[in-house]
Amino acid sequence: MVKFGTIIASDLVDNGEVLLTSGEKLEANLFLPTYGQQPNTDFLPSQSLDEHGFVKVDERLEVSGLENVFAVGDMSNKEPPQYIFLERQASHMANNVIRLLKGEQLVPYKPFTKSESYTT
Ligand SMILES: Cc1cc2nc3c(=O)[nH]c(=O)nc-3n(C[C@H](O)[C@H](O)[C@H](O)COP(=O)(O)OP(=O)(O)OC[C@H]3O[C@@H](n4cnc5c(N)ncnc54)[C@H](O)[C@@H]3O)c2cc1C
Repeated sequence: MVKFGTIIASDLVDNGEVLLTSGEKLEANLFLPTYGQQPNTDFLPSQSLDEHGFVKVDERLEVSGLENVFAVGDMSNKEPPQYIFLERQASHMANNVIRLLKGEQLVPYKPFTKSESYTT
C-alpha cells in the first residue's frame, strides 16, 4: 500500500495503530521505521563531520582532518547508507590499510557510478 500526501505523525504503535498527519490511522502489529536514522558521531571532532553529522572522508576514505583514520559505512558521507556501499568501502579500506602498513601509496576509492546496477 502506498499513501501519498501524508506522513507518519506518530510512529508509536498505539492500540495497534499508526497515526498519519491526514488523521488516518493504519492498523499495525509491528512498525519498523526505515527512515530518520542518525549517525552516532557526537564523540568525534566537529571538523570531521558534515552539517548532518556524517563523517567527512576524502577519496581514500580517510577522515577529514585526521591522518591514518578511516571511516566507512553509514557513518560516512561518501555514499548513501546502504550495505552494498559499506561492503565495497570496507574491502577497499582494508586493502588500503595493508598498503599503508607496507609503506605503499593509498589507492582512491571509486564510488558506484549510475551505470552500475545493483540489487540486494
Ligand atoms: C530496516 C533496514 C533495512 C535495510 N535494508 C537494506 C537493504 O536491503 N540493502 C542494503 O544495502 N542496506 C540496507 N539497510 C542498510 C544497512 O543495514 C546499513 O547500510 C548497514 O548495516 C551499515 O553498516 P554499518 O556497519 O555502517 O553500520 P551499522 O550496521 O549501523 O553498525 C554500527 C554499529 O556500531 C554500533 N555503535 C554505534 N555507536 C557506537 C559507539 N559509540 N560505540 C560502539 N559502538 C557503537 C551500533 O550499535 C552498531 O552495531 C537497511 C537498514 C535498515 C535499518
